[in-house]
Amino acid sequence: MHPFSLERPRDLAGAFASGAQAGRNDAPIEFIAGGTDMVQLLQEHVRRPDRLVSLSGLLDATIELSPEGLRIGAAATMADTAAHPAVLEGFPVIAEALLASASPQVRNQATIGGNLLQRTRCPYFRDVGYAACNKRAPGSGCSALGGETRWNAVLGTSQSCIAAHASDLAVALVALDPVVELRSASGQRTVPLAEFHRLPGETPHIETVLEPGEVVAGILVPASPIARRSHYLKVRDRASFEFALVSAAVGLDLEDGIIRDAHVALGGVGTKPWRVPEVEAALSGAALEEAALRQAAALATQGAEPRGGNAFKIELMQRAIVRAIQTAGARA
Ligand SMILES: Cc1cc2nc3c(=O)[nH]c(=O)nc-3n(C[C@H](O)[C@H](O)[C@H](O)COP(=O)(O)OP(=O)(O)OC[C@H]3O[C@@H](n4cnc5c(N)ncnc54)[C@H](O)[C@@H]3O)c2cc1C
Ligand code: SF4
Repeated sequence: MHPFSLERPRDLAGAFASGAQAGRNDAPIEFIAGGTDMVQLLQEHVRRPDRLVSLSGLLDATIELSPEGLRIGAAATMADTAAHPAVLEGFPVIAEALLASASPQVRNQATIGGNLLQRTRCPYFRDVGYAACNKRAPGSGCSALGGETRWNAVLGTSQSCIAAHASDLAVALVALDPVVELRSASGQRTVPLAEFHRLPGETPHIETVLEPGEVVAGILVPASPIARRSHYLKVRDRASFEFALVSAAVGLDLEDGIIRDAHVALGGVGTKPWRVPEVEAALSGAALEEAALRQAAALATQGAEPRGGNAFKIELMQRAIVRAIQTAGARA
């Protein structure tokens, strides 16, 4: 492991003054929260900061429901968020995505802010034995192109990077149109989560719209019938402690068995948490019948570029959407 110093500022102003950045491999000073992703990457030499600046105790960990919606502080743990009564009752897709993530030990330690900033599970990114990885070493190439692609994306890819976004929570959240609260030395701003993560394009090492020194302070999720009748379906190689091959987050507004409005997001297939507006438009006014759902789900594959070992995701994503809608639709 590259030697580093760990700093514990007394307040956020101190953290901002440190010059730390989030989510950039080339940053010599980085933030750390629960450490569950960061420490793995340090151990594997994927990240080599000289200084780590702890956000522990500096950010809000409260989870509260107000007329504006559900606010989750960035320092809330995955475990506390998944178990919160307001989440379980009004936002089941969030609780289900969290409970399908990692392990109880990791969920007790990992924060919601860190979850959104976790790095990809592309095996070539996490193994420095492979020199070519544009995300880890900009301009070095991409070992996944022409290599093993089972874990990689089919939507939103570029010639520079086809890495899938790894977070289950981000997929569930993006289906609910939340905003992310960002803070820095110069103040506060909000960004829709749908615009928070960037497509890889030619700069896959820049994964979010965070400015240097900015941190995630919280997430505000609007309450809605969509959020109440929602479901997260995760398909993976084993039933626990495994990342998604494909996942589907859905929320439905139903009347007499007819879909008035549907929100659908996909995981495991996109280079960022992936909404499918074409599918949502086709579901509007549809009955909860398999043929109609299947027809709408087929639109999710528009623009998909499977490469070798991940072609199976084309069929799997459609089946996941249909199953997730059927499960959400059966909810009271
Ligand atoms: C064994 C294992 C299995 C896992 N399985 C899953 C899974 O199935 N599904 C899933 O979704 N995830 C999974 N994860 C990932 C896990 O959810 C993340 O590691 C965790 O959420 C990261 O949170 P953290 O607080 O520990 O972040 P850290 O590791 O401390 O930080 C991660 C990144 O976020 C940045 N950061 C942290 N907080 C902030 C903030 N407030 N503002 C700005 N930047 C910040 C850090 O600088 C760093 O770049 C797994 C992790 C492990 C170790
Ligand atoms: S897909 Fe992206 S993360 Fe994976 S090797 Fe290629 S550049 Fe690196």
